[in-house]
Amino acid sequence: MLTVNAYAAPSATEPLVKTTIERRDVGAQDVLIEIKYSGICHSDIHTVRGEWGQIAYPQVVGHEIVGIVAEVGSDVTTHRVGDRVGVGCMVNSCRECVNCLAGKQNYCLKGNTGTYAATDVDGTITQGGYSTHIVVVEDFVLKVPESIPFEKAAPLLCAGVTTYSPLAHWNAGPGSRVAIVGMGGLGHMGVKIAHAMGAEVTVLSQSLSKKDDGLRLGADHYYATSDPATFADLAGRFDLIINTVSASVDINAYLSLLAADGTLVNVGAPSEPLPVRAFSLIGMRRSFAGSNIGSIEETQQMLDFCAEHGIAPETELVSADYINEAYERVLASDVRYRFVIDVATLV
Ligand code: NAP
Ligand code: ZN
Ligand code: ZN
Repeated sequence: MLTVNAYAAPSATEPLVKTTIERRDVGAQDVLIEIKYSGICHSDIHTVRGEWGQIAYPQVVGHEIVGIVAEVGSDVTTHRVGDRVGVGCMVNSCRECVNCLAGKQNYCLKGNTGTYAATDVDGTITQGGYSTHIVVVEDFVLKVPESIPFEKAAPLLCAGVTTYSPLAHWNAGPGSRVAIVGMGGLGHMGVKIAHAMGAEVTVLSQSLSKKDDGLRLGADHYYATSDPATFADLAGRFDLIINTVSASVDINAYLSLLAADGTLVNVGAPSEPLPVRAFSLIGMRRSFAGSNIGSIEETQQMLDFCAEHGIAPETELVSADYINEAYERVLASDVRYRFVIDVATLV
């Protein structure tokens, strides 16, 4: 066992505090990673506050992890000591269900093993990236291309792949009209990636306060959803809408913006339901879909795509003792556009 520094939630209602946790010994197929940077995802907040259901405390969250390989097990062949690597939202899966065999570990029928707040094979609860080290089986460790600045790479492991996967799956590209709802951590990556794929990109944000940023990051158009004229002007416009909003919204209003045969993909994960009227779908043969992160193969593809296109998240680097304040700013939509913890401040 390795005792390491971490930042943990003691309960659903208390601030996160500095503590220590145990990491398992490095097994034959394991990689020990010295974590350098860890992104703050809105899912971390949903989880520690119990919004997705009860969890065990204390809990360390964080599933946007980059670091350096410090040790490898005897059977490890894909990573070497000193490599720049990343870990995203899952650290294992059953490996034998139809989806795992098809390489879709993110849709494992038994539920993939989340990087935090999940039950690991040894019965312990997984603890995430707000810590100095993590031990992960080699197949769930990604390679971070040298050309991506390391302090900006972490958010790609969740925000990057969660937007890349549906954009690729629903064929965003030249000639397609894509809307991104919500310009936070996921949304701003969706704008950059959809633009790089060649789509015509529109941001639908609560206000126009981030319009200049949106256009600079690659959007062609930017609208405020607080303005009712937006929904009239854009009716029937989009082939694909990616909704990244962390709260419940009137999904029927957004469905009305889809063209015939268009798809609205929900990646935002509010705890409240998103009621859909049948007639929002029927008239124009529209689809309402969901998408969960991406597979390991897609995550590596996304990292390589971002390296090739010079894409990196817009980040604000913070020290570990700023995490609680960062949470409040995320909840207030005051994030530009992803907080990243400098893990050196946890040592
Ligand atoms: P975030 O940085 O907080 O961004 C969410 C954005 O949604 C905000 O910046 C804001 O954008 C908009 N928004 C927030 N509250 C709103 C409200 N009440 N009404 C309308 N718009 C609102 O969060 P994130 O880290 O990108 O995560 C977004 C959601 O995706 C979370 O629910 C998270 O759990 C989920 N998620 C899902 C997956 C998956 O695999 N499906 C993976 C990662 C995260 P504007 O200011 O531009 O309006
Ligand atoms: Zn996430
Ligand atoms: Zn499986």
